[in-house]
Amino acid sequence: MSDGYDVVVIGAGTGGYSAALRSAQLGKRVALVERDERLGGTCLLRGCIPTKALLRSAEVLDTVNRAAEWGITASGEPDWISIVAFENRMVDKLVTGLTALVKHRGIDVVRGDARLAQGPAVEVDGRRLSAADVVIATGSAPKLLPGLTITGRIIASDQALWLPFIPASAVVIGAGAVGLEFASLYRSFGAEVTLLEALPRLAPLEDEDVSKEITRAFHKRGITTVAGANVSRVEPAGELVDVAYEDAGQPKTLSVEVCLVAVGRGPVTDGLGLEGAGVELDRGFVKVDGQLQTTVPHVWAVGDVAATPLQLAHVAFTEGMAVAERIAGAAVPEIDYANLPRVTYCTPEIASVGLTEAQAVERGHDVASERFDFKGVGKANILGEGGIVKVVTEVNGGPVLGVHMVGPHVTDLISEAMLITNWEAVPAEVAALIHPHPTLSEAMGEAHLALAGKPLHSA
Ligand code: NAD
Repeated sequence: MSDGYDVVVIGAGTGGYSAALRSAQLGKRVALVERDERLGGTCLLRGCIPTKALLRSAEVLDTVNRAAEWGITASGEPDWISIVAFENRMVDKLVTGLTALVKHRGIDVVRGDARLAQGPAVEVDGRRLSAADVVIATGSAPKLLPGLTITGRIIASDQALWLPFIPASAVVIGAGAVGLEFASLYRSFGAEVTLLEALPRLAPLEDEDVSKEITRAFHKRGITTVAGANVSRVEPAGELVDVAYEDAGQPKTLSVEVCLVAVGRGPVTDGLGLEGAGVELDRGFVKVDGQLQTTVPHVWAVGDVAATPLQLAHVAFTEGMAVAERIAGAAVPEIDYANLPRVTYCTPEIASVGLTEAQAVERGHDVASERFDFKGVGKANILGEGGIVKVVTEVNGGPVLGVHMVGPHVTDLISEAMLITNWEAVPAEVAALIHPHPTLSEAMGEAHLALAGKPLHSA
């Protein structure tokens, strides 16, 4: 077998495998280099999929424990071994599917540690793969607070996914997507949870109304939240962990079974030889232009390792496919990162697309907004879930600039909002479309009806 390829992709996570699959589809000879035993990267092996499997178990438990609300006598207990077995089954199933697809597309999987060489080329444990184009897709790993090391009880998300026990008490540091999802999960499984966020509000990247709504909902669920927290010490203390922090200048200490650190993810570039090959970095991430080209011709970067605005699996898919198509000679427009949907699977869920109200104002838009409460939607009442849909538009019937939601199944509902913002629809156009009754999607219809000046179930 010759070691000359059209495209060599380093990393078989969502960014890498999407670039490889699309390149193969476009007739390229492709090698996919991966050091892990299994394909799938963070999303499949230790991110989206295992987390969502655990969150599904948590949701079932919540429903069972609330069964009396729907006239059913039942109560549930988490069986952690079986929960983890379900999690593993989901991961295994999807990894098997992906592995078969990669094989079916005729992609050569090369196991080992890759190093970028001049050419471009990629060296894998002494073997040289020459390539017309190389795609760097090595992903990211959880960051820790300075001076902290992982123990059995001081953990990051990688460890949380397969912890040998369900903690009775937990401190979660960081209220981004990871922190919100694990705080929610631990609470569902019965833990006393304190969520500490350094910035002045939870979900700080979301619209302020979303932060308010999720804070209110978490409090209702019995989760303690501290925004503006300054964590000063995280230390093992026998079978517990001591976490010291300041809340509005007041020193506080908690002793808990687990401290989960969820303060963001950093790029994985160690040992790749990037700088030697002339690939410039930007705060540790691989510097790219709007086309996702690095500073070296024919070397591209996609996914979490690339210095692009969002570290999300669907962003990596989009970037991977775009790069594959560009390599094949297609003119693919630059990705509009503001109009990519963002989803967080805590209870209640959070989803958004487009500009927050503050961002819209900052960009000089004259803004109108509508906040529709899920209380006004029959289906949400039947499900026993609350929340909001907030729509931000340009005043006087201008296009929808952003949609921000907290509530039941909003991670699915966001797809409609994605079409609305990306197609620059105006509220009157959306209001003229029919949302079936009784469905949760009516909340989207109602918010646009209100913005079009004809609210039905709101004042
Ligand atoms: P993040 O950057 O989204 O959030 C980290 C949070 O920690 C921030 O709000 C930050 O202000 C806070 N923080 C930082 N230092 C702190 C400190 N010392 N004390 C208290 N708070 C502190 O990172 P994440 O939640 O770890 O997620 C990593 C990446 O993975 C993100 O890009 C995220 O969007 C993505 N992700 C997405 C999903 C999803 O789409 N459902 C799920 C998990 C992760």
